[in-house]
Amino acid sequence: MSCRCGGMAAYTRRYSGQSLCGPCFASSIEKKAARTLSRYGMARRGETVAVAVSGGKDSLALLQVMSRLSSSRGFGIRAVTIDEGIPGYRDEALDIASRFCRDMGVRLDVLSYSGLFGTTLEEALDTEGRQTSCAICGTLRRRALDIAAREAGADALATGHNLDDVLQTFLINVISGDTGRIGWMDPGARPDPPRRIKPFCEIYEEEIVFYALTTGIPFQTEPCPHMGEGVRTEVREFLNSLEGRHAGMKNAMYGSVLRLAGMARGADTREGAVCPGCGFRCTGGTCSVCGMLGQLGNANIPTRPGIGR
Ligand code: SF4
Ligand SMILES: [Zn+2]
Ligand SMILES: [Zn+2]
Repeated sequence: MSCRCGGMAAYTRRYSGQSLCGPCFASSIEKKAARTLSRYGMARRGETVAVAVSGGKDSLALLQVMSRLSSSRGFGIRAVTIDEGIPGYRDEALDIASRFCRDMGVRLDVLSYSGLFGTTLEEALDTEGRQTSCAICGTLRRRALDIAAREAGADALATGHNLDDVLQTFLINVISGDTGRIGWMDPGARPDPPRRIKPFCEIYEEEIVFYALTTGIPFQTEPCPHMGEGVRTEVREFLNSLEGRHAGMKNAMYGSVLRLAGMARGADTREGAVCPGCGFRCTGGTCSVCGMLGQLGNANIPTRPGIGR
């Protein structure tokens, strides 16, 4: 099968039938991400974007794409990494992330759960046995990244979440009855800095994997030892099995998620609430981070810069 340039095709998009060689495929991913950036006003001329880098394929691919787009679009980039304190896993990822950032000429800042919250993920798991590792880790990571982006003076915080991640999160919110979070999935939500942006939110996960492989990005393949403890793995398999039988189903579902998120955001009257404990924006009352850190007893609660306690 041939690519549109006449070269040998290396990848076929089942949902569109398009076949592309490696370089044309890589360029199509960069153009897709650029279109998403423009469509939602994710990164503007003169702004600084902090790219969350974990050492995995999505985040390193994102750093490469954002670095390539930054000069033509006139925004600056910084990289931020969070060390959760997962023995034997995060050290390798940190090594890969810092080497890649150095090669790309991008400054990397590393913040840790222990430095920010006074506890590593493993210590938190020993104290708080009722919640899954990913529930604790995800809550703390969102806050840690927010703080890292603020400290970097960033206008936006870019994460490597792809279309599959967005669909999984939507279904998990529905399954767990956490429908209040659906409004936050609107790409236009949270206009105050650092805005959360997901430049890969319209790209299939398997396309990001192929982009990373075809452009030679050295990503970490070792999964986190806690991977698979939550419901996300089952939701991922369910969506992949549907897509396998009905090519394009993920794209169609993404359109529905966008519409529902827009409606939910318009109906959410709690959007402007601020947590009395830390000063960060939340959906009302004490935020999930303060609630979790309170249960852990020995942890610090970092306040929003400029907010005293
Ligand atoms: S798999 Fe879960 S515990 Fe591991 S890094 Fe991801 S969110 Fe954290
Ligand atoms: Zn080609
Ligand atoms: Zn709080």
